[in-house]
Amino acid sequence: MPNILVSNDDGIYAPGLLALALEMTTLGNVWVVAPQTNQSITGHKKTLDRPLRARRIKDIFPDHIPAFAVDGAPSDCAALALMGLFDDVNFDFVVSGINTAPNLGQDLTYSGTVSVALEAAIFGKPAIAFSLVDRQPHGDYSDAAVIAQQITAQTLTHDLPVHTILNVNIPHLALDQIKGVQITKQGLRYYRDVLDKRVDPFGEPYYWIGGVAPTGDVEAEGTDLWAVHNGYVSVTPIHLDLTRHEFIGTLSTWAFEVPQKTSKKEAE
Ligand code: MN
Repeated sequence: MPNILVSNDDGIYAPGLLALALEMTTLGNVWVVAPQTNQSITGHKKTLDRPLRARRIKDIFPDHIPAFAVDGAPSDCAALALMGLFDDVNFDFVVSGINTAPNLGQDLTYSGTVSVALEAAIFGKPAIAFSLVDRQPHGDYSDAAVIAQQITAQTLTHDLPVHTILNVNIPHLALDQIKGVQITKQGLRYYRDVLDKRVDPFGEPYYWIGGVAPTGDVEAEGTDLWAVHNGYVSVTPIHLDLTRHEFIGTLSTWAFEVPQKTSKKEAE
């Protein structure tokens, strides 16, 4: 039985986390390490300037699932567990989610859910991030968890390439309404953020990023946005290597150089 770490960014009390952990017990031994509060949209972070504490949570998880709340970022949770939070446990697989709200297109750069999986990839562990395309925090995650279980079970029988994770987005539909699974690439998000400028009670300005939920290009076939828009589960392979490889040749022709004017040091 593989040892499976379950984490998320919505926090230890998020229903999507419990649903995912319960389904993972059909595949292996499960430990939960998750942020003690909602850490959505915090990106990939490493907390080095203060200690981290892990507190056992017993009120919602069954006894056979050791669950810990950490006062850090989602990626801190993965790092702690993979670096020896449980002295004698070596993890084989990491799953993150099930997130409230999608992680599509450029969302991945903001996502705490995805950062858990990316942190696992840095440690050389296979990992999957799961998100439900629904913005209701207290929605029903049971159908999505069944899909997450199936995708994890299949992935456990294969080898993910090094530094590669799967980013999975599940439409908020009944199982018999979902058309299937599409292997996709990242699509294009359109953010509709609006900067709200206000004045505090002391006369000082402050700024709040608001606006409505993002949309995206749902017409581009083969993308994550297209897949979930059309009722498919989207599975995107994501690489830690952010290099734009096909641009290296062109960039090499740009005249970047180290200026050779006399430096102050030499002049002295
Ligand atoms: Mn979240």
